Amino acid sequence: MEYIQGCEETTIQNLFKTIGKRTSMIIQAQIGACGTCINSHIYEGLDDVYFIAHSLAPERGILKRESIEDLPDADIGIIDGPICFQGKEESIQMAEMVREKSKILLGLGTCAVGSDTIGGFITKDCSHLLPFFCPYLRTRHPKIENYVSFDYKLPVCSANQEGLKRFIRATLREDTGYLEYFKDPGASTINVITEAECCMGCGTCGMACPTGAISYVEQRPRIDAEVCIKCGACFIQCPRSFFSNSVLSLNRFQNPPDPLLGFYREAYSARTQDSRIMKISQDGGIVTTLLCYLLREQICDAAVVSVSRHGWDTVPEVVTTPEEVLKAAGTKYTVVPNLMGIKKAADQGYEKIAFVGVPCQVQGVVKTDVYPFGDRYYHSKIAFVVSIFCMENFLFGNLRSIIEGKTEVPMDETNKMGISKGRFWVRSLDGNQFRIPVKFIETYAQKSCSLCLDFCGELSDISVGSVGTADGYSTVLVRSEKGKRVFDDFKKTIECEPLSQEGLKTIQDLANLKKGKNTRATRETLTKKRWLMLETLSDLV
Ligand SMILES: Cc1cc2nc3c(=O)[nH]c(=O)nc-3n(C[C@H](O)[C@H](O)[C@H](O)COP(=O)(O)OP(=O)(O)OC[C@H]3O[C@@H](n4cnc5c(N)ncnc54)[C@H](O)[C@@H]3O)c2cc1C
Ligand code: SF4
Ligand code: SF4
Ligand code: SF4
Repeated sequence: MEYIQGCEETTIQNLFKTIGKRTSMIIQAQIGACGTCINSHIYEGLDDVYFIAHSLAPERGILKRESIEDLPDADIGIIDGPICFQGKEESIQMAEMVREKSKILLGLGTCAVGSDTIGGFITKDCSHLLPFFCPYLRTRHPKIENYVSFDYKLPVCSANQEGLKRFIRATLREDTGYLEYFKDPGASTINVITEAECCMGCGTCGMACPTGAISYVEQRPRIDAEVCIKCGACFIQCPRSFFSNSVLSLNRFQNPPDPLLGFYREAYSARTQDSRIMKISQDGGIVTTLLCYLLREQICDAAVVSVSRHGWDTVPEVVTTPEEVLKAAGTKYTVVPNLMGIKKAADQGYEKIAFVGVPCQVQGVVKTDVYPFGDRYYHSKIAFVVSIFCMENFLFGNLRSIIEGKTEVPMDETNKMGISKGRFWVRSLDGNQFRIPVKFIETYAQKSCSLCLDFCGELSDISVGSVGTADGYSTVLVRSEKGKRVFDDFKKTIECEPLSQEGLKTIQDLANLKKGKNTRATRETLTKKRWLMLETLSDLV
């Protein structure tokens, strides 16, 4: 996303220039003989990189192998690769020397620092540069972290160049907030997240997986063990492994979040002026109208939306025309792995993708952008992010149980559904309306929603919801600079006025309710799961 404070510097040298630091000495050490993962290009133009490698390791790009005997003192040491079976003592000795000479030591890759669950595996790809046959391929190797201590560890393979630059930049800037998780990171696949019932089916892991090993079955990710290379990307990128709203808000908006609503610049009550959209949309039709505007004005070349197939079974879809956007109008109270739609759109060649999702999906989008360690490039194709407000969501089977069990309307005869004034309502195709108090359907909500502290999409460009404004209108929170630029023009095409203080207070109350209710569940889970590192809760309600 071009508007997120990114790492545009193409080399570490430029990175040093932009942060006004003198060039520091970096030791780059390849401890094992394997290795496709040295990102030598990021060091282009930098004289003060001292590269050492295992004696069997092949030559690597622009880096010239230096003698280990003359190892200089360094500001940063970076080690990748596992302890090699062919020359184990040499590997260990190199690691110990780099530790001794480096003020800060970074460990890169699951093979080096990937915990007991996934660390140490060497795949066929890892050794394709090797000039000889390695009999230990696909064998689990000892990890370097068993022999030396690291200041920060990045357990993901193979480290994406942009992610690597951000990681090194954060180290140079002493950005402890950004790096906090990497002092002692968990490393795993997303199986631990699904098994602990923390997964909310957002689709981030499927987008991030480099081998296509993840598919979604009953709105939950499933890993094909035959295809999984245990790289750890899915886990690192999942918004439920580690997540800090304040770090992401600072990176995204250069401003800390408002404690209840997240950072925002302006708040409006608005409604579409398009009579066709008014009829089919959920509330004020702002999401549908805005997406049409983004495509028409060529701010975006595609949009990822949620489209219901037969009987409200809903999937992410890539749409490119206003006519197609209309197919997605209306709220589906069910979980959709929408980030898989971003992968689909980018794989189809779209470069400026608009994304619409619930807050947890937006968390996945922004996390992959601020920590681009596994998804390779998908995050850079996202041009605009719209969040809809969300109190809770339902797995499809549970939505069916609510609608067919409690209102007795068959799913395929349901025309529209919604929540307002404490009631879940369903309108059937023949125009009848049924209402159930929300408290009767609360037990049907997806369990992982109880770990969610975001009501109104705190990291989006623009958030849209129904509470806070009159029926048939939308509440709009404009957050990013780009969001403001777009909305300033867009609002000339719709009915729009500043949100009343009373309206704002209603949203604050609901956000407060959600944060308060879910804080206890989040705290309990945090104490049980060592790998889980969601926002520290001390500054919440
Ligand atoms: C599960 C859920 C819970 C919600 N809870 C609240 C709430 O408590 N309070 C509140 O004020 N608002 C809530 N909303 C938002 C509200 O229902 C409207 O979506 C919002 O007001 C936008 O209205 P609109 O008329 O502008 O949208 P429309 O113009 O009708 O467009 C709706 C857009 O939402 C997207 N969408 C629909 N269903 C989903 C889904 N399941 N996942 C991701 N995207 C989807 C579609 O792609 C479409 O582009 C919730 C939405 C969802 C999906
Ligand atoms: S929360 Fe999202 S990223 Fe995490 S396991 Fe579930 S679907 Fe994957
Ligand atoms: S991202 Fe894919 S390949 Fe990597 S650990 Fe996860 S499922 Fe396996
Ligand atoms: S409550 Fe939170 S976790 Fe659940 S669907 Fe909504 S945004 Fe996602």
